[in-house]
Amino acid sequence: MSAGTPMRLDNWIAGAARPSRNGRTLDKFDPHDGELLAQIADSEALDVADAVAAAQDAFPAWAALTPVRRGQILTDVVTGMRRRSLELADCVARETGKPPQDARGEVGGAILQGEYFSGEGMRLYARTLTSGLPGKSSYTVRQRRGVAGLIVPANTPIANIAWKVFPALICGNTVVLKASEDAPAIAMLFAELSKEAGVPDGVFNVVQGRGDPAGAALVTDMRVALVSFTGSTAVGRWIAQEGGRRLARVSLELGGKNALVVCDDADLDQAVHWAALSAFSNAGQRCAAGSRLLVFESVYEAFRDRLAAKACALRLGVGSECDLGPLISRRQQQSVLAAVEQALSQGGRLVCGGSTPAETSLARGCYVQPTLIDELLPHAELSCREIFGPVATLHAVRDIRHALDLANATEYGLTAAIHTRSVDRALWFTQRVRAGVANVNLGTYGSEPHMPFGGFGASGNGTREPGVEALDVYSELKNISFLARETLI
Ligand code: NAD
Repeated sequence: MSAGTPMRLDNWIAGAARPSRNGRTLDKFDPHDGELLAQIADSEALDVADAVAAAQDAFPAWAALTPVRRGQILTDVVTGMRRRSLELADCVARETGKPPQDARGEVGGAILQGEYFSGEGMRLYARTLTSGLPGKSSYTVRQRRGVAGLIVPANTPIANIAWKVFPALICGNTVVLKASEDAPAIAMLFAELSKEAGVPDGVFNVVQGRGDPAGAALVTDMRVALVSFTGSTAVGRWIAQEGGRRLARVSLELGGKNALVVCDDADLDQAVHWAALSAFSNAGQRCAAGSRLLVFESVYEAFRDRLAAKACALRLGVGSECDLGPLISRRQQQSVLAAVEQALSQGGRLVCGGSTPAETSLARGCYVQPTLIDELLPHAELSCREIFGPVATLHAVRDIRHALDLANATEYGLTAAIHTRSVDRALWFTQRVRAGVANVNLGTYGSEPHMPFGGFGASGNGTREPGVEALDVYSELKNISFLARETLI
């Protein structure tokens, strides 16, 4: 993706680019300067139906390949990603506005996902079982489910794609990916790479466009056997209902309001370092962002002042010297600024940030300054609701029990972190915190391809991706038993 004439980005169906049937397009703007980057297919149900039909046609042959062979083909996709990693990173940086080193890191993470799940072709372990019946042997096998409908957001677009597409394909499913309307180009680049690597036409398809109608049509299509969705809790709730109605398998990776606890015995330098990364890296656009900072009273002021100084020193922009870029869209920027205003009207006090940056070079972009708010009650709406921007609230806590109570006091339950030198405190907290991921002396984010990630409560529906646990999402278990008759020996 390069500057200049806006790109035209169509759907990718049966191995070829195809415009939407209605011929309409949506505009995709550069988050850094507001320039028109691309015009993307504004797909509707008919386009989704075409993509699902292509995936259905390709399914029998793809499912018939051995997992080892599928793994070899996916290894070739990974090799292509590695070869074209700079191009992938440029594309991510351009359409999200994140600094180049962050985009390269994300591409590296996506490649690791691909490596991990390609290798799964030589494992795909299931179980052997005992039986109560003499002579009976029993074991399970993992079988593909069919057409997988995968819906992703734009915050880490190539990582989000790899996170879902590799496990879906290794298990023998074919895929229709609903790309994010805010990151449409990276999905097409991945499609191109897949074709080059020998993924058969129709095995991987992309539908561009808005959540409703394009994403919604994928969710309600009876031929889509499983829907894996990463996005907001509100949309996840609707998908759970629709999927439930037709008994499709649904995996939901949703929002978070993740607590980072700083105890009185914490290494404050480390705590400030990880809190700043958790709250502000990727411009706070992480489901696992540390947006609720719970700090022991005795170190509260010292921590707050050091974190505020760090936040003020962060550089905004798209250069390699920058720490964070803009938000993904004007809509998201406005929504974050409105949330800050609301927090202040509810009794919050601005510690730093709170508005758009003063630099004229950033004036046309969707930037929001790294923002810290304190004095907001821990149960106030904005202390508990995900904002999805570079905004964190600070709350003083009396002790570890108070910290745990507040960490568990939102409807979410995605991740948490605690900073302490005490093993006892760390164990006590990590065992009790209501979160799918609990880190000690780290940030609230940082999952790896072989580690299960997912949340309690409103952060998901109990599934875990990636790791081997993702195989439970993308495959169906079958139990096979047989009886050896001793009389025949
Ligand atoms: P979003 O829910 O608005 O959109 C996500 C995707 O869903 C987009 O592709 C969108 O087009 C599509 N979509 C929207 N409405 C739809 C509908 N009715 N039917 C089907 N698809 C629909 O979310 P967003 O603002 O783009 O992304 C931010 C959210 O994603 C945050 O809540 C964040 O926490 C969450 N997220 C979660 C994880 C995780 O692993 N838990 C990771 C990244 C982001």
